[in-house]
Amino acid sequence: MGAMPEATRPAAVPRSFATAQVQAGFVSGVAENTAVPSIHQSNGFEFASLSEARDLFALRKDGNIYSRAANPTVLVFERRVAELEGGIGAAGVASGQAAVAVALLALAKQGEHIVAARQLYGGTVDLLQDTFADWGIEVTFVDQDDVAAWEAAVRPTTRALFAESISNPIAQVLDLGAVAAVARRAGVPLVIDNTVATPYLQRAKDFGADIVVHSATKFLGGHGTSLGGVVVDLGTFDFTAEPERWPQLTQTYPRVPDGSLVERFGATASPYIALVKTKYVHDLGPSLSAFNAFQLLQGLETLDLRMQRHSASALAVAEFLTTHPAVARVHHPGLASSPWHANAQTYLPDGASSVFAFDLHATGDAEADFRLVEDVISRLQVVRLVANIGDARSLVAHPASMTHSHMSPAQLAEAHISPTTVRLSIGLEDPRDIVDDLRRALDGAAVAPSDDAERQLAESSSR
Ligand SMILES: *Cc1c(COP(=O)(O)O)cnc(C)c1O
Repeated sequence: MGAMPEATRPAAVPRSFATAQVQAGFVSGVAENTAVPSIHQSNGFEFASLSEARDLFALRKDGNIYSRAANPTVLVFERRVAELEGGIGAAGVASGQAAVAVALLALAKQGEHIVAARQLYGGTVDLLQDTFADWGIEVTFVDQDDVAAWEAAVRPTTRALFAESISNPIAQVLDLGAVAAVARRAGVPLVIDNTVATPYLQRAKDFGADIVVHSATKFLGGHGTSLGGVVVDLGTFDFTAEPERWPQLTQTYPRVPDGSLVERFGATASPYIALVKTKYVHDLGPSLSAFNAFQLLQGLETLDLRMQRHSASALAVAEFLTTHPAVARVHHPGLASSPWHANAQTYLPDGASSVFAFDLHATGDAEADFRLVEDVISRLQVVRLVANIGDARSLVAHPASMTHSHMSPAQLAEAHISPTTVRLSIGLEDPRDIVDDLRRALDGAAVAPSDDAERQLAESSSR
């Protein structure tokens, strides 16, 4: 049983984003007078008396029991992200994968249904179409741009709509307002994975999202050092409007005395986050460690500065790539040529983050295409071959052989991923060095297809 989940404490004075990302959630001088949050590396917490222990276990008193359920360093992280997203409460967890899992499990159980975008992070696709299927939770995947398909997929048993605000590798920007309208008509919450956008570039709440999840591993932490995830309740969805749909929140909850979670927490905190913590994190155990929460807090303090640099550098790199003869296409929503440019202008006015892709000219031969991409990647010296995004370092990946390698050719085509699609996550280095690095690599490799063609010609004529 966990300590009571808490609402974010409102600041004494209104806080702007930049102030909140540095200060929210931390009150100095409470336990000790450190100026920054401490790493509370303790599994358990000592009770003053057995009576106090009894009150804590009954969630009648607010405090720490055991770090799987609640930890003071993790609590600072939760309050800070909740404030940045404009939410009423958050649950920090061990990874983005855990955040997606517990966020959706708290909404949909066996026999119920989720409508999800087809354009999702690969691990999320695995979770929804494989593991959730094993558990009898049905998922319908729709093209995220097809509002009619979202609408048509809704059933009486639907309990959530799920999508990413910016999907990778090709940076499709969701028409969040349109999907939120479908969710409202369906009477279910819209859950948004806001990993790539971050609350600095997009507050999903402003466009109708109800719950936000993050892989904090990526831009929130920002330095490629720590796995983490977070679920934020934006406080916009009314679970009491149709209480029979949400018995887990509106009916007696045996783990907490004094009635349902809505009765217990509805006035002061998030009943939904209470369920996530006291049931799913408690039972399955994907807790965020104090050390990782500390690292993620360090990252959050510079989120606005980093996202400005990430976004500006990525757009500069994308613009350069459109000029290179070895490049067939650049998928960046900041470019006027992108099908998602209008959505980016509506939803991402301050920048489109730094994860995007480009295609090299394909040869039509799978092995030759792979060699071409390998040749370009092997020439890169600043941009590193790493399966991660949202790092201070610039990273490159080849979706067809790495992150999306288990997808069928049809699924790849639907996701606009070609055999020569190259994904970039632009870091914080000097953008001129990143552009020069890509130019060198592409210049060097530009001769490769004709070399291959000549070799093939020589081979066939010698046969
Ligand atoms: C990486 C990622 C995840 C999974 O996060 P982990 O921290 O790796 O578990 C989920 N969603 C998106 C959009 C991601 O990029």
